[in-house]
Amino acid sequence: MGTKREFGPQRILVTGGAGFIGSHLCARLLAEGQEVLCVDNFYTGSRENLHPLLNNPRFEMLRHDVTMPLFVEVDQIYNLACPASPVHYQFDPVQTTKTSVHGAINVLGLAKRLKCRVLQASTSEVYGDPEVHPQTEDYWGHVNPVGYRSCYDEGKRCAETLFFDYYRQHKVEIKVARIFNTYGPNMHPNDGRVVSNFIVQALLNRPITIYGEGQQTRSFCYVDDLVDGLIRLMASPADVTGPINLGNPHEFTIRELATQVIELTNSSSKLEFFPMPPDDPRQRKPDITRAQTQLGWQPRVQLREGLTRAIAYFERMVREQRREMTV
Ligand code: NAD
Ligand code: UDP
Ligand code: UDP
Repeated sequence: MGTKREFGPQRILVTGGAGFIGSHLCARLLAEGQEVLCVDNFYTGSRENLHPLLNNPRFEMLRHDVTMPLFVEVDQIYNLACPASPVHYQFDPVQTTKTSVHGAINVLGLAKRLKCRVLQASTSEVYGDPEVHPQTEDYWGHVNPVGYRSCYDEGKRCAETLFFDYYRQHKVEIKVARIFNTYGPNMHPNDGRVVSNFIVQALLNRPITIYGEGQQTRSFCYVDDLVDGLIRLMASPADVTGPINLGNPHEFTIRELATQVIELTNSSSKLEFFPMPPDDPRQRKPDITRAQTQLGWQPRVQLREGLTRAIAYFERMVREQRREMTV
């Protein structure tokens, strides 16, 4: 089994292509000469993210909800459809689980019929509040099955199960990427994620909202690096199924992130402290040995450089008053 077209452009389906990571992935695939079919229901994504791509004759957009069956003809599938920020995925938790689980079943059924590769955008959230640090792929995780984050965490875990069962039972060629916190242009300014929140707050000289003491850690990967990892994974030999961690192993406390953002924006914002959300992981850092050895991949963009690029994006958005900033 392999991709159908061996020569010429591949026709590639990207679900969730109007979102933050998806829009970068679509742009990158087009730049490589591929044909892209973007499928999205615009739940958290936007047309604006796709604006630069709309005039490309190799780009096509279909408004569709992945919880419904999808009959199209493609050579590869990237399954990214799913709200990713805690604020968005907790807004309609039942729909979040449906998107992960029914969405996975539908893209896997599609891949099975087409005999094509399918890549799942899984997440470091499958490790929950991890007791193993840094997280390796063979760690099974520490996840609350009945909490506020469960719709996302357990939905993604079930999607991984489905991917591996379709692989074992139906010989579908799967790729499972466990994506760690990613940031960059095209993030939704009001989705409550820490990088976008802090940058917008700093640019508007509003208080920087730190949850807890800000001693929890995350490791932030710039979106271009992440997209590079996804494309390498898709192109890897058939026996490289993952799960495979994709993220930047440089770990920072949330307080350190706030300090860097304030400095880079020359902001007069002060830190303001709020209660920690329930089940918020205390630490997170990928072990990327597997991605290094199996994909020859590692991130290149340092936090300072990536933040500078993300700040330039949000600065433009604030200046042009393109959206109301609710942070
Ligand atoms: P995002 O919210 O910007 O993008 C998700 C996209 O999926 C949006 O365009 C949204 O409209 C679309 N979508 C949601 N539900 C859908 C449905 N039922 N049918 C069709 N489209 C639907 O999020 P993102 O940060 O770009 O994340 C993309 C993927 O990567 C997600 O699957 C997410 O779980 C995963 N991921 C992201 C991160 C990160 O740090 N950004 C980390 C780990 C995993
Ligand atoms: N599916 C789809 N597009 C296809 C093929 C299948 O959306 O081109 C959906 C199909 O509707 C089904 C799901 O994928 O609900 C799983 O398909 P599979 O063939 O594995 O299961 P079955 O149809 O036998 O239940
Ligand atoms: N966070 C924060 N202030 C904010 C938004 C988030 O202190 O305004 C914290 C949050 O509690 C978490 C970390 O930053 O510990 C990362 O949050 P995010 O929602 O970006 O991602 P996730 O928790 O899914 O890793």
